Amino acid sequence: MGGLHRGHSELIQTATRCYPKNASSVLVSIFVNPLQFGPEEDFDSYPRDLDQDCEIARQANAQAIWVPPITEIFPNGPDSHFKLKAPSQLQQHLCGASRKGHFDGVATVICRLLKLVQPQVLVLGEKDWQQFIIVRNLIKDLGLPVRLVGVPTVRDHDGLAYSSRNSYLSKVLRQKALALPQSLQKAAKEIELGREINLNKIKSDLKQAGLKVEYLERVDPLSLEPVKTAQSISLLAAAVKCGATRLIDHTFLMNRKPIVAIDGPAGAGKSTVTKAFAKKLGLLYLDTGAMYRAVTWLILKKKIDPENKEAISRVLTNLKLDLNHSQTGSQNVIINGNNVSEAIRSPEITSLVSQIATKGPVREALTTQQKALGLRGGLVAEGRDIGSAVFPDAELKVFLTASPSERARRRANDLKEKGFKVPDLITLEKQIEERDKIDSSREISPLKEAEGAVRLITDGLSVQGVVNILVELFRSKVPEEVWPTPQTN
Ligand code: C5P
Repeated sequence: MGGLHRGHSELIQTATRCYPKNASSVLVSIFVNPLQFGPEEDFDSYPRDLDQDCEIARQANAQAIWVPPITEIFPNGPDSHFKLKAPSQLQQHLCGASRKGHFDGVATVICRLLKLVQPQVLVLGEKDWQQFIIVRNLIKDLGLPVRLVGVPTVRDHDGLAYSSRNSYLSKVLRQKALALPQSLQKAAKEIELGREINLNKIKSDLKQAGLKVEYLERVDPLSLEPVKTAQSISLLAAAVKCGATRLIDHTFLMNRKPIVAIDGPAGAGKSTVTKAFAKKLGLLYLDTGAMYRAVTWLILKKKIDPENKEAISRVLTNLKLDLNHSQTGSQNVIINGNNVSEAIRSPEITSLVSQIATKGPVREALTTQQKALGLRGGLVAEGRDIGSAVFPDAELKVFLTASPSERARRRANDLKEKGFKVPDLITLEKQIEERDKIDSSREISPLKEAEGAVRLITDGLSVQGVVNILVELFRSKVPEEVWPTPQTN
């Protein structure tokens, strides 16, 4: 809506930098949309300074700035224009509760602007999180052909989130306004330290600081429904009046960093895509299959009968299984001091691992270790039971699969690359099916699609294609503010 500031510069720069690689231009649209202002709101006085906006857009490397007159957006006038209605679940809380019709006005104008500009990518700030979620649902529900990219809230040196309306604040009021980001920040810290927060106490702190609290709510970041029980990521959002100026701000409350769980049958290409996905997003990569393989290697080395539970349990008591990551992101597997990273990929281990993985003590020991590794989050784990048994509260769960013949083909390539003898495709397909059967029919934590998992069938998709889908899925669950995409990408 204009009144450009550093937050907008960041949107423009993000568009310029990353999306899409072949884009020829970044266009900034400026339109103060009458449909999203209530009768008592500041439509007339909303900051408008086109010269300054042009300068800021130019400095941020925008190629074009588009400032349509109202007749171009609503040729018959805003009142007689066809209107969209945002879903009531998404607007009954936070700003939507007091700004009736505001998000219908936002949805209507965004649809109109997208139709006129037809961009490939729409870059929006995460600062107005409810707006961001409503626009995302609008694009998804109406199947609009545009990709939405979020940009984290940009803050001034004193912590106040940039907003065009900050220009209304006097020096004294601006000082008062700082209580808002400070209180939110304090709450985020409490949650990070594992303590609970008291919304009434925060509200009274804000009041004491001279702010009038319109709302302070803790909601699920995607459904925007109030959160009662603790969950790994929630949104604490507030609107306050600072003098006559309405300010909104939020923070994400997290007791750990995000987790992604990727499960699926053998040969679906999980390792390859998960590794690349982890690298792209700067997440730690955990290949849990390698852990089962390492234990299998040890059992074979010690010539223990795979059915001898007592002997297996004895081996597990003194087990020292280390996973560390090389510079390239691959995982080194060291068991009781032996680097077995390559040895565990042998056909011998592959044919025995599923049998070992059915054993209770093995599953218990490895699941405990995996959970400990994921305590602080910030990782993507792949295996068979990650979304169902190890990290059932993962932010994103994916069930990655492909047809048996495709998986056999991939396994053959894999074996060839690693220098092992490659059986014919029919034999490989049979071996894979046999392993899947053992994995899905075992009593403890069988291979299955976890509740809430997204099924991704990868036949006909390239590795990069699958990674791109995973990144999109991740972004549909985890805000940039929570886990920013590393700048090198
Ligand atoms: O993924 P990969 O082929 O390395 O896995 C080897 C075997 O380890 C699987 O077939 C399965 O029997 C077992 N596994 C498991 N649970 C996991 C990961 C792997 O049971 N989370």
